[in-house]
Amino acid sequence: MSASVALRLPSIDGLLRHPACLPLAERYGREALLTSLRQLLDELRSSVVNGQLSAVEISPEVLAGRVVERLVQQQRSQVRRVFNLTGTVLHTNLGRALLPEEAIEAVQMAARYPLNLEFDLASGKRGDRDDLIEGLIRELTGAEAVTVVNNNAAAVLLTLNSLGARKEGIISRGELIEIGGAFRIPDIMARAGVRLHEVGTTNRTHARDYEAAIGPRSGLIMRVHASNYSIEGFTARVPTAELAELAHRHGLPLLEDLGSGSLLDLTRWGLPAEPTVRQALLDGADIVTFSGDKLLGGPQAGLIVGSKALIARIKKNPLKRALRVDKLTLAALEAVLGLYRDPDRLAERLPSLRLLTRAQADIFAQASRLQPAMADVLGEVWRVGAVQSLGMIGSGSQPVARLPSAALCLRPQVSRRMRGRHLLNLEAALRALPIPVLGRIDDDALWLDLRQLDDEPAWLAQLPLLQVAQ
Ligand SMILES: *Cc1c(COP(=O)(O)O)cnc(C)c1O
Repeated sequence: MSASVALRLPSIDGLLRHPACLPLAERYGREALLTSLRQLLDELRSSVVNGQLSAVEISPEVLAGRVVERLVQQQRSQVRRVFNLTGTVLHTNLGRALLPEEAIEAVQMAARYPLNLEFDLASGKRGDRDDLIEGLIRELTGAEAVTVVNNNAAAVLLTLNSLGARKEGIISRGELIEIGGAFRIPDIMARAGVRLHEVGTTNRTHARDYEAAIGPRSGLIMRVHASNYSIEGFTARVPTAELAELAHRHGLPLLEDLGSGSLLDLTRWGLPAEPTVRQALLDGADIVTFSGDKLLGGPQAGLIVGSKALIARIKKNPLKRALRVDKLTLAALEAVLGLYRDPDRLAERLPSLRLLTRAQADIFAQASRLQPAMADVLGEVWRVGAVQSLGMIGSGSQPVARLPSAALCLRPQVSRRMRGRHLLNLEAALRALPIPVLGRIDDDALWLDLRQLDDEPAWLAQLPLLQVAQ
């Protein structure tokens, strides 16, 4: 091959001075522009050497255009708002509970100004961050004391390590559960330094099983609320009150990991019954742990409540310092707990409860209202129905219970063989919208459960941008 004139990439300096790039430095910053230009040129270098690019493709104008795409992409936040139309309200992968306005304001205040995080304004002395919510927790649960950590997994780890290290933790085989991710009760016990002493069987555990396990090495009895699965049929479980009595007779503390741990009886809003923190304490549990962002409806946190003496031991553990919550979390948590003082208005003010209690008729009306717009955008290939559906609470609360809801059900009108691909293409197109829309595929259809579609205008406004690959 005869030697042709080798193309050369423009120099960085030349590009920076080029009129197509000059405004970019102003807009995105010189440093960011320089980095992106270098990355781009590095990527193109080998293609240029191999003669795969034309002179136009490496002209300053075209390169400037490509660098803009890059800068826009890099400037966009990785943390993105989405529409959760999966039907699962407290969706762990989508951030669980949404905070009420009161909590958002509190977070803003805590973010913007210095605050009395660990400072007692009455005495002018050093304070304790847990004190900021202790009054509310006492009032709402009847507990003597509280300490707050990063999440409920941390609460369980810290409690076990503080009260049971180098001793045995007695627990029913029916409660050796996996919560999801890498959180399994036997593993967490091991990490906490507690020797697992399992008793009973998967479906039936009796008081005599616990009794027989108690010995000189026993440190505590643990009970875990089997939140994410249910055992039905031939089952037996020792009531908390009886287990507490047994534990105390032997001088052992009873820990109860409630998981969701509701502060109020949810049946008053027609929701499935969940054990309340107050009841667990009344029944005699010495320590109760629960999440802040499950049914409580607050920020991610793990609450440890119980007797003053045991909480004091837990707070002395150096792990507490490693697992403690920050000021933003505490500010949000206090605001959310404050709403619980007025249960009559809670379902209006707490987003998670408002969404969980939305009437099916209301959701169905919304589905009917939005059906024409969706059908219009999707065209002939899709049948769009406004239908009844079943959602769930999520985050392991009430795995069997279903929330009667309503959805847009999107069904591809194509041969069975093609359905799967159509559904995946539509799912991807919905995910590619400016505010990604997340539904669920089930029964050869894509379901958009509307229980959580609050911001209808924003949802409708982006529908025309939907581009489904064929
Ligand atoms: C969810 C759950 C946990 C973990 O709580 P996080 O707040 O997600 O860390 C622990 N125990 C039980 C029983 C749970 O349901």
